[in-house]
Amino acid sequence: MPKYVFVTGGVVSSVGKGIVAASLGMLLESRGFKVAMMKLDPYINVDPGTMNPYEHGEVFVTDDGAETDLDLGHYQRFTHAKLSQKSNVTTGGIYNAVIQKERRGEYLGKTVQVIPHITDEIKSRIRMLTTESESDTDVAIIEIGGTVGDIESLPFLEAIRQFRLELYPTPCCTIHVTLLPYIDAAGELKTKPTQHSVRALRDIGIQPDIIICRTGPHNLGPDQRRKIAMFCNVTEDAIIGAKDVSPIYAIPLNLNTQGLDTMAMRVLGIEGQPQDLTEWRAIVEKILKPEHEIRIAAVGKYVGHDDAYKSINEAITHAALANRCKVHYEWIDSEQFENGATPEEKLKDYDGVLIGPGFGSRGIEGKIKAARYVRQSGKPFLGVCLGMQIAVIEMTRNCLNLPQANSTEFDPATPDPVISLLSEQRGIQDMGGTMRLGAYRCQLTPDTKTREAYGEDIIYERHRHRYEFNNAYRERLEKEAGLVISGIHPRGDHELVEIVELKGHPWFCASQFHPEFTSTPLRPQPLFRDFVKAALAGRMREKHG
Ligand code: GLN
Repeated sequence: MPKYVFVTGGVVSSVGKGIVAASLGMLLESRGFKVAMMKLDPYINVDPGTMNPYEHGEVFVTDDGAETDLDLGHYQRFTHAKLSQKSNVTTGGIYNAVIQKERRGEYLGKTVQVIPHITDEIKSRIRMLTTESESDTDVAIIEIGGTVGDIESLPFLEAIRQFRLELYPTPCCTIHVTLLPYIDAAGELKTKPTQHSVRALRDIGIQPDIIICRTGPHNLGPDQRRKIAMFCNVTEDAIIGAKDVSPIYAIPLNLNTQGLDTMAMRVLGIEGQPQDLTEWRAIVEKILKPEHEIRIAAVGKYVGHDDAYKSINEAITHAALANRCKVHYEWIDSEQFENGATPEEKLKDYDGVLIGPGFGSRGIEGKIKAARYVRQSGKPFLGVCLGMQIAVIEMTRNCLNLPQANSTEFDPATPDPVISLLSEQRGIQDMGGTMRLGAYRCQLTPDTKTREAYGEDIIYERHRHRYEFNNAYRERLEKEAGLVISGIHPRGDHELVEIVELKGHPWFCASQFHPEFTSTPLRPQPLFRDFVKAALAGRMREKHG
């Protein structure tokens, strides 16, 4: 039976609960514990797959094809926890299950209510996290989305209250993450909102064991610590100050210095092994002390939400640290290439170009122009999902002289649908959970840059898309455009093209899958790593003539 840690948030959203949960997971692993991670999200969407990433942040995909909240990306990058459909549960998912059971008559004529039926369903999902292959979990860390006091999160908090009671006398640990605003006129951090938020939590019947105070650039002083301890009924040593630190991989080290993992183990009544954080410290050190600098352009439609491509940004950071360089990763709006600006002038000073995932036709023509420049100029290029589709459309148009080639996503009537739907995707009406999702086996081609990057013949990478490379154009693209198919997914009669390269180009790889979802600071993803390596090599050649 695992021990349970619950992470709640107070005062405002975006206080960094996800990173706190992930950091604690990482620290407990460093003590020899096996952890499981879970996020409970209080919105009605059955999963975040149908939510706009430009508002909500990226949709993170697991091996088994769950479309999940971006906090699971933090769990993946900080811990070794196995993430799956079980790791992210929403209010919509809970209600969906309860309503289906009601329709099947499983409640035996009872009135179906929030308490006990919804709360029972929540508790059963929490228990389910650590069954089957995860039954040897030592600690399960459950993050509750939203902020204490929200109407939406009430059923989750009530379920946790019951869960704690049911587990008694086995202790659980509740960590409340809050914000202490700094008031300039008073020259101090204010504890009142935290007091209120903890009061709201205690009203529900949950007493936090540890309070983590986000304090922006300020230090948490002894006075505030004393006040919070007294008003919130928590011992002073369990009040942890979490000042902003950079990079994010330094956060667990900061929390460790203040005793977060020791405190959590004490509350849970468990003893860990001696801790060794050398590897993690080395990561932070490498990020902080780069030996070189390069510039990479991300060409895409303007999005204005940093979290929309969270995993790609992090994969670039991991690739940068593997190459001991700092990457200035800059966003280049592709729509400007449709309005007079040229890729030549805007991209020439960059050492590499990335075209990332996306949906919808805005900015597509501009991306195709950028892809042409990248192919012809020999700039290192990484295409991810839509980025691969763009590269293929560009080559079909310009090397095969089929100027109307397109993806049927953008032009359903194109005479040359070089990217199109497989028959099983045609006629699908439901948008939720119906794309090609999750990890697929990919067989790599010998003597390609892809094979060299991975160092293996068979890899598994995660997908999230509807459209595919159309094999009808494969032979001509190989013969006339220099396209190299460097990875395929074999399936019966029909193989799916998963990754392509370009003959004679210094470094050009574009994958239909999303390599960013498997990148971690301890194991930088091979394609991202070699892309940055090629960009750095280009920069060095330029510098030294
Ligand atoms: N819109 C494209 C598709 O559905 C690409 C999706 C993506 O980039 N994730 O196939």
